[in-house]
Amino acid sequence: MQRIGQSRDTHRLITGKSLVLGGIDIPSPYAVDAHSDGDCLLHAIAEAFLGALALGDLGKHFPDTPGKDEGRDSAKMLEAVYRLVREHDFHLVNLDATVHLERPKLASHIDSMRERIAGILGVSIDRVSVKATRGEKVGPIGKEEAITAECVLLLEKKSRIEYLRNRKRDGKRV
Ligand SMILES: [Zn+2]
Repeated sequence: MQRIGQSRDTHRLITGKSLVLGGIDIPSPYAVDAHSDGDCLLHAIAEAFLGALALGDLGKHFPDTPGKDEGRDSAKMLEAVYRLVREHDFHLVNLDATVHLERPKLASHIDSMRERIAGILGVSIDRVSVKATRGEKVGPIGKEEAITAECVLLLEKKSRIEYLRNRKRDGKRV
């Protein structure tokens, strides 16, 4: 059995020194205005997982309660969401994400982001695609007012025994 999920997350940019994206720190003339650490890419990925299983949105699972969890590590959120996916006996077939950001250029950070995301999920890096595109100076992306990330992913259900057997065969932690 397979399920597909998708999500799109946008945050406002403010003047800053770095932004957290795909679980890594990237030097940037902007930071993200957010309740959590503002990791737009991990938010889109986590919410796509929830969407695939019709479990609601990220806000339902991690509400922005004032004074609580501020600056929350989005990697921990994604880890918790994927644990939920595993508890439903699904696993990731592949995910494909796109970040829309005018500046800085992300090309040199793409593989570090893929590696970090694969590490958080405990899957091989070839299951994780991250792409980046710019806004051509128009709209909120091009005018450097916002960052958006989109994710589409596919899940497959396998019995837990089969999953553990495959992990063992691949030399991964079970
Ligand atoms: Zn977000």
